[in-house]
Amino acid sequence: MPASPMHVLLVEDQLSVRSTLRRQLEAHGHSVTEAETAMEAVAAFQRQRPDLVLMDVVLPVEDGYWAAREIRSLEGSDWTPIIFLSARDHELDLWRGIESGGDDYLVKPASAVVLAAKLHAMSRLQRMRQQLIQTSEALRAANERLAHLTTLDDLTQLGNRRGFDERLYTSVHQCARDKQPLSLILCDIDHFKAYNDALGHVQGDACLQRVAKVLRSVCRRPLDYVARYGGEEFGLILPNTPRSGAMTFARALQHMLATHAEPHAASPFGVVTLSGGITTVVPDASTTAQGLLLRADEALYSAKAQGRNRFFSFEMQVDTVAHLHGDGQPG
Ligand code: GH3
Ligand code: MG
Ligand code: MG
Ligand code: MG
Repeated sequence: MPASPMHVLLVEDQLSVRSTLRRQLEAHGHSVTEAETAMEAVAAFQRQRPDLVLMDVVLPVEDGYWAAREIRSLEGSDWTPIIFLSARDHELDLWRGIESGGDDYLVKPASAVVLAAKLHAMSRLQRMRQQLIQTSEALRAANERLAHLTTLDDLTQLGNRRGFDERLYTSVHQCARDKQPLSLILCDIDHFKAYNDALGHVQGDACLQRVAKVLRSVCRRPLDYVARYGGEEFGLILPNTPRSGAMTFARALQHMLATHAEPHAASPFGVVTLSGGITTVVPDASTTAQGLLLRADEALYSAKAQGRNRFFSFEMQVDTVAHLHGDGQPG
């Protein structure tokens, strides 16, 4: 009977029985570690992590049931088959064996064929269990990838609206717990319809990708998050960032955009620019993501109304242009 070779921990206090079993096991290609007592068995198990335990019930001092329980508690979520081996031919013994963590029960003297068959069955069970673990791990990883994908924007590989909403929600709560300021920026490409009209949608898409790259490059802190909120609109979540920090961030972003100088002939600025609305709060129980979005959106509207190519702070009621000329209050 072909069985994949296993490393068997053989626990048996009687030398003659032990030798016979060892020979039987080795004849089927299995390797054997011997233990004479329950304590030795537990120690050997811990050291060697055998594939299977063949355990006598009646042993000096502690018995095989005890050893099985110890082994089960040692291996945590692992599973090593334990087959009890006893001269006691009593149903209650079988029950106790299973209850203490055993998987099967053999009455001594066990025939070589029955022993080999049980080992074979156990090794098959163990293989199936291993496959199941691998499959569920692959499934878990696939689910994780999928969950990640559902929060990504196809075109820009930034977060998408769903990812943004999730992150904003968790950031509000995290900053509330930490009593830290949270800044939210909504920004929108200026005169982008004209860009599309002049160069076509394909060029428009490529432009969105380049702007996304610039946005990503200014998000330097590990908690900073940027998403494509929709169309040519982007959302930035900056935890632990006060008003002044958000203003500095916005200026850095504008500076980076100016450095890239993406031509936009149909815009009065001649290059691709962004307008943005900023809101900053230390969130408390009354703060909602929606409230923050409304403020940022209102601030964005102000930035557009005041001439575009600027970021307007809702709380400071000042934009990056005025701020630069010293009209703003410090955050
Ligand atoms: P404003 O400065 O007021 O923001 O003007 P605008 O032209 O950018 O704004 P408007 O809302 O009038 O037009 C937005 C345009 O953005 C419409 C569309 O041509 C373009 N747009 C939105 N989403 C996409 C996209 O996924 N790809 C491309 N190529 N263009 C897009
Ligand atoms: Mg014994
Ligand atoms: Mg827009
Ligand atoms: Mg626009």
